Amino acid sequence: MKLKHKIIVETPIVEMDGDEMTRIMWHMVKEKLLLPHLDMKLEYYDLHVKHRDETDDQVTIAAAGAIMKYGVGVKCATITPNGDRVQEYKLKKAWKSPNATIRGMLDGTVFRKPIIAKNIRPAVSNWKKPIIIGRHAYGDVYSNREMSIKGAGTAELVFTPADGGPPVRKTIKEFTEPGIIQGMHNTDASIESFARACFTFALDQKIDLWFSAKDTISKTYDARFRDIFHREYENNWRERYREAGIEYFFTLIDDAVARIMKHEGGVLWALKNYDGDVMSDMIASANGSLAMMTSVLVSPQGYFEYEAAHGTVQKHYYKHMAGEETSTNSMALIFAWSGCLRKRGELDGTSEVVAFAGKLEEAAIETVEAGIMTGDLLMVAEDAPWNRKVNTENFIEFIAANLQRKL
Ligand code: NAP
Ligand code: MG
Repeated sequence: MKLKHKIIVETPIVEMDGDEMTRIMWHMVKEKLLLPHLDMKLEYYDLHVKHRDETDDQVTIAAAGAIMKYGVGVKCATITPNGDRVQEYKLKKAWKSPNATIRGMLDGTVFRKPIIAKNIRPAVSNWKKPIIIGRHAYGDVYSNREMSIKGAGTAELVFTPADGGPPVRKTIKEFTEPGIIQGMHNTDASIESFARACFTFALDQKIDLWFSAKDTISKTYDARFRDIFHREYENNWRERYREAGIEYFFTLIDDAVARIMKHEGGVLWALKNYDGDVMSDMIASANGSLAMMTSVLVSPQGYFEYEAAHGTVQKHYYKHMAGEETSTNSMALIFAWSGCLRKRGELDGTSEVVAFAGKLEEAAIETVEAGIMTGDLLMVAEDAPWNRKVNTENFIEFIAANLQRKL
């Protein structure tokens, strides 16, 4: 066989290994799809939960630092330890979620984009192109304070200025009976960086940007989000969007939900933290499987971290460890690598790397479209006599054979 030259990736890629079933697939993907074709330097960080524990989680911080140094990283799914995991892996403590640590350091916005195959029809029949969710990953109900109210009394919002000015108070409710209250916050700086990340990402993808919130009801809180997006657009993006032939618009979240059901897709839908959390799961499931959703963290400084939207697929891992056959879908992991390679190629100006990323994605999608799929997809695919379920490793081998033909 003629030896082909390998494609050179100029700048090192920050690789973050992970846990359980995704760790197993991660190595198969590298072995069978990447290393045979690419000459790349990997800055390897092992985020296996045991290694995070041994390093007192310093390895996660070092990995985030490396993304800030090189600009582009790719991450495998990782366990966020809870009480059970602390016991299972005999950890020193329940370390913070690596995603939260990395997000905190990079100050990013998470974009989730479904992978579309012709024979995996979205549950909404008019969705022809991906609907990308941009989720603000800071504040709101995720860092709230809540209180249970035992009986009659006054609940207030109080702000005490640090400069010694008089406290500002508002009555929430004069309670006459038991109930509940909740307080939450956001900051202008975080909303501004969220807005900038969304404007940047939509322009990069050449698609329209929608932002929706409940500003008719929340006339201060949600209205601040609306106003910051509006100001950012007018000051920095209107002209560039016109040149690119795309548009930004704000609409009430009810209206956006109604519109999205009738839309053909191909938009970035920016959402507040809770709305984005909920809507991204709806979009993922409407597109067939959790494994058909990719995720990228984009920081306002222009750092990119690619990953799968799903977790470590714990149940499949236990089956694998028990010696049983698994049929776990590696699509989102493959697309994390292709997304990272495309971005690396764009930044380095190496068109061969960009082209390789495209061929890898085509090879993966065409494999599914040819009816070769993992169990999760077989359940939702259009019926065809040639559809067949393959195991975890065979699925990647079929993709590898397809890819070989394209190179
Ligand atoms: P999960 O790994 O997303 O899996 C949930 C279920 O979804 C699986 O049991 C499986 O369903 C299906 N599924 C997910 N990915 C699949 C794939 N690639 N192929 C086929 N089916 C797939 O969530 P989890 O089991 O609740 O969480 C496991 C661990 O992941 C947790 O420790 C959590 O902390 C971590 N996690 C990490 C991240 C991250 O690093 N980004 C995100 C979420 C969760 P069936 O069992 O029905 O086949
Ligand atoms: Mg969710």
